[in-house]
Amino acid sequence: MSGAAATGVARRLVIGHLFADLLNLYGDRGNIATLTRRAQWRGITVEIRPIGRDDGDALTDVDIAFIGGGQDAEQVAVAQGLQALGPALVEAVRGGTALLAVCGGYQNLGHAYRSELVGDLPGPGLLDAETEAPRGAPRRVGGIVIQLEEGSPIAAGGRASAERAGHAGAETRLVGFENHSGLTRLGPGARPLGRTLVGWGNNGGDGGEGLLAYPDEGGFAGVRIGTYLHGPLLPRNPHLGDYLLACALGRTRQDPALEPIPDDAEWAAHAAFEARWRADWERGRRMSRTRAGRLVERLENLVGF
Ligand code: GLN
Repeated sequence: MSGAAATGVARRLVIGHLFADLLNLYGDRGNIATLTRRAQWRGITVEIRPIGRDDGDALTDVDIAFIGGGQDAEQVAVAQGLQALGPALVEAVRGGTALLAVCGGYQNLGHAYRSELVGDLPGPGLLDAETEAPRGAPRRVGGIVIQLEEGSPIAAGGRASAERAGHAGAETRLVGFENHSGLTRLGPGARPLGRTLVGWGNNGGDGGEGLLAYPDEGGFAGVRIGTYLHGPLLPRNPHLGDYLLACALGRTRQDPALEPIPDDAEWAAHAAFEARWRADWERGRRMSRTRAGRLVERLENLVGF
């Protein structure tokens, strides 16, 4: 029995969905559904709270803040909204709110996002990263597999669950789907969420994907995660969902130990996705070694595949 249950204190979690009406590409809302169900399966009561530009006050007791992806037009509105909401959001994450930002949201929460379409959009710098979509940049579209760092607490938390499901080792990786033309560069001290095994990630050059700042790093008590992984991300990565939940419960001194739940379907989906996109990536790599293959790639980029 968990500590909280033993003392009779019901655990409670507030999830803040930032700019939900603007950034909701590729079913990113599924991340909220996953966090909610994984919490409820542990008997934790969940409130989902939409957070818009003028809702800074409503952020004070938010345990997990989530922001999804979107297109450049919506990102302009989000950047404007962040002028108002940004200080309260920064304050909340300083105080311990866990943050998960996907794709467009990841770009918006860095120092700046620049593209031909939107010009120069400033961000609150909650994530130490900058993004630019250079003129004519190809869209990076496809499945992505990343390797978490050695000794990752995200992997450690998922080890037993992956093993029970017959997928030992899968917990050291995350899978998802990327679709972006923005290239993200991390600040000098920032750590990527993982290293790409398949796909492009932050900029296709340095091998990094996303950004991860552990709790209490850089003056922020809350964990901060930015990533290009849609999918949505969390249903196929139960270890990441549980890591966010544990961080969020820990911040309010509720028992962060999460009772094991069966994750066979989740790990099976993770493994199937990884196998399919590894094969696709290998095929693409073989193609790019031939002239005909490179031509097909260029055509695919032109028509926006
Ligand atoms: N506008 C961004 C890009 O294409 C974000 C896309 C997204 O959120 N999927 O780089």
